[in-house]
Amino acid sequence: MNVRRLDTAAVRIIGSEDEHLAHNYHPLPIVVHQAEGVWVTDVEGKRYLDLLSAYSALNFGHRHPALVAAAKEQLDRVTLTSRAFHNDRLGEFAQALTELCGKDMMLPMNTGAEAVETGIKVARAWGYRVKGVPEGEAEIVVAHGNFHGRTTTIVGFSDDPEARDGFGPFAPGFVAVPFGDADAVAAAITPNTVAVLIEPIQGEAGVIIPPDGYLRAVREACTANNVLMIADEIQSGLGRVGETFACDREDVEPDVYLLGKALGGGIVPVSAVVADADILGVLRPGEHGSTFGGNPLASAVGVKVVELLASGDYQRRAKALGEHLASRLDEFVGHGATAVRVAGLWAGVDVDPAVGTGREVAERLLARGVLVKDTHAQTIRIAPPLVVRATEIDWAIEQLKLALAG
Ligand SMILES: *Cc1c(COP(=O)(O)O)cnc(C)c1O
Repeated sequence: MNVRRLDTAAVRIIGSEDEHLAHNYHPLPIVVHQAEGVWVTDVEGKRYLDLLSAYSALNFGHRHPALVAAAKEQLDRVTLTSRAFHNDRLGEFAQALTELCGKDMMLPMNTGAEAVETGIKVARAWGYRVKGVPEGEAEIVVAHGNFHGRTTTIVGFSDDPEARDGFGPFAPGFVAVPFGDADAVAAAITPNTVAVLIEPIQGEAGVIIPPDGYLRAVREACTANNVLMIADEIQSGLGRVGETFACDREDVEPDVYLLGKALGGGIVPVSAVVADADILGVLRPGEHGSTFGGNPLASAVGVKVVELLASGDYQRRAKALGEHLASRLDEFVGHGATAVRVAGLWAGVDVDPAVGTGREVAERLLARGVLVKDTHAQTIRIAPPLVVRATEIDWAIEQLKLALAG
């Protein structure tokens, strides 16, 4: 395999991981040593353009100076208090984030999956205490092809056999309908439905963009039936698509935002559920929590992330450069790719099986100094940090052209 061309240090590190790490990932054979902006350097000193951005957790690039400075300053003061006490950073973070989202309240957690779990709990509690659904009867409508994380409840409503098989029994209370079909959402709603949980653009499924009007129609179905619209913007949100949120593409305001990934600035895991007080206010002390959620270090970084987004610069960059990326990727349709989908600086490229699998193209790109990751066999996802330059995109496109040529 590609491991052969690596130097002895990299071979040793990969071999040791192989022996001592659970095999729940299949990483590309590169051992990263250092990174800055859109570039990472491996243990041999070779540089690579990062077109994955840790699945959008690195929207602001590796080690953004303002984010690193905020983290360092906080490291020298206090990093963890637990929520048993107040700390002097969390309130500031909550105020900034709720302002960015146009909502009253937020609930801080750490990982994306925890935000999703929290959203599910909040929706059920809201259903029983506010909507009047009989206890234990709450239903949540989800979409086929969804990816919301890896907990047992969440994989239970996934239809990806890799994510799900072997991990049951699963929690009941979820109904799946085709993604992009708002009529199917409306038809699945019953008097016991408390929420519709969707990714406004499905990331892990391969950057699947729903038809125009879908989000608005889902919004209308939710409003008409007194059902919460929960938008999982963990990957699609925070600038990636050229707007603050992917829901903004249709001027839709969900009842609940689930945020994560880029919220931690690529430094610490930070996630949040953001909603108005009539929804998040249903939780009472002791009913939900997290030891690390809302810690001062996470909050200090989160405040800076919101500040970067509040300027609108990253969203504007993602929009302008995304149009450039789309125009360059279009040339591959029928020439190495069977389809290309682009939203802001986020693209799914379906590789023509005649030129190889997604994994093979990712390995060819790696050899050419470009990092991408395949998803679902034939698709590669392109999601550079939003600080990428047009010239760097052009260079990556040239490498992709060569990789798709075989
Ligand atoms: C990554 C992701 C999650 C899960 O986030 P983790 O931090 O890996 O738990 C949930 N939803 C979406 C849409 C994601 O992309």
